[in-house]
Amino acid sequence: MTNQTALTIALEQLKLTAEKLELDSGIHEMLKKPKRTLIVSVTIKMDDCSIGVFEGCRVQHWDVRGPFKGGIRYHPDLTIDDITALAKWMTWKCAIVDLPYGGAKGGICCNPKNMSQGELERLTRRYVSLIFDYLGPHRDVPAPDVYTNEQTMAWVMDTYSQLKGFSVPESVTGKPVAVGGSEGRVCATALGLAFCVREAAKLLKLNLKNAKVAVQGYGNVGYNAASIMHSLGCKIIAVSDSAGGIYCPDGINPAEVNAHKKKTGSVINYKNCVNITNEELLETECDILIPAALQNQIRKDNADKIRAKIVAEGANGPTTPEADKVLYEKGICLIPDILANSGGVTVSYFEWVQNLTREHWTLAEVNEKLESKITKAFYDVQKLSRKEESDMRTAALMLGVGRVAQAIRTLGLWQ
Ligand code: NAD
Repeated sequence: MTNQTALTIALEQLKLTAEKLELDSGIHEMLKKPKRTLIVSVTIKMDDCSIGVFEGCRVQHWDVRGPFKGGIRYHPDLTIDDITALAKWMTWKCAIVDLPYGGAKGGICCNPKNMSQGELERLTRRYVSLIFDYLGPHRDVPAPDVYTNEQTMAWVMDTYSQLKGFSVPESVTGKPVAVGGSEGRVCATALGLAFCVREAAKLLKLNLKNAKVAVQGYGNVGYNAASIMHSLGCKIIAVSDSAGGIYCPDGINPAEVNAHKKKTGSVINYKNCVNITNEELLETECDILIPAALQNQIRKDNADKIRAKIVAEGANGPTTPEADKVLYEKGICLIPDILANSGGVTVSYFEWVQNLTREHWTLAEVNEKLESKITKAFYDVQKLSRKEESDMRTAALMLGVGRVAQAIRTLGLWQ
């Protein structure tokens, strides 16, 4: 297995894009590094009355197009380098969908599976209090990511509001609807991905009816993507989570598998399915492969074994640059993360706008606006990839990095 980290991948992508765009070397240097990195020690009282000490961080990449925006991740393997890469990708992503935001990401190195709800609440509140000075609706607006959810965002909002002294729903997105969340936010990333897959299928003349889909990761993005693709007539033939995967050539019912996961803790050992590994899932013969777990999954060593027509990246950074080349040469249509999973931040933006204007849009309004933004971004990227005779990732990066560089040039540097 090649040893590329998310950060080396993000830097390599930026280098290739800078060359393509003939970017000023000073701007390239600026974009390599985040504007600010906060490292905090999150100390909480554990349920057994011991003191738990967890490392947390918030990386703010660049905010030349608007306030910072990005998720909060809880994961035992979390590193600052990974979070820095994820913050960069957020900067490009917001620019590609043309949202007035810069990129950020944060997280805490912890294993939420081994923690109680009370411990997670204290952890979240303490973390927010430690980075409070650098958050805010016009400064940095967090959202959910791996192993954080609507409940986590409600604690973020409440802690921020308590410290301010008044309610500030626009300080965070991905909240429950009951406290100012947007309709459609929970499914937004998966729905945006499905819009991209639908357009790619049209271009490839691939009929979605009975198209075979494999999904890696069965959390917010993976489960909802499986459900939506199923509702579009696709056959979901393989799904997985951190414990392993299942394969069923006749197709599974995503909601029933989700109920089984809720009951048993995993998708594995589901009736009429064969248990498979995550590696086998990626190599399954299918029409559409959706990696929706973690980074660095499709690499040089397994890219040649991918047997899908479309790879739609729900996760951030699942494919390495070396693997990108292999997939492109194999004629596989890869819809890159910074486009395919941008539905989440798009509806987060809608949530922020609704909070700032004290409005509440219907689900139909939200989904219609999402469809229009994502479809436009998809064809902007498509058009550029045809012009450049490149893969879609190269084109998406050129579009995103190009817009950020344009903003830097226009603002100039304050001395
Ligand atoms: P989640 O916590 O809801 O789900 C993560 C899923 O991945 C779980 O099913 C978990 O079991 C599985 N998983 C973890 N490690 C795995 C492994 N090694 N192999 C296979 N499966 C594994 O997280 P999520 O919000 O669905 O995020 C998934 C990915 O999508 C992440 O890369 C995240 O950055 C990206 N993403 C999420 C959103 C969003 O709105 N939630 C938006 C954009 C991108």
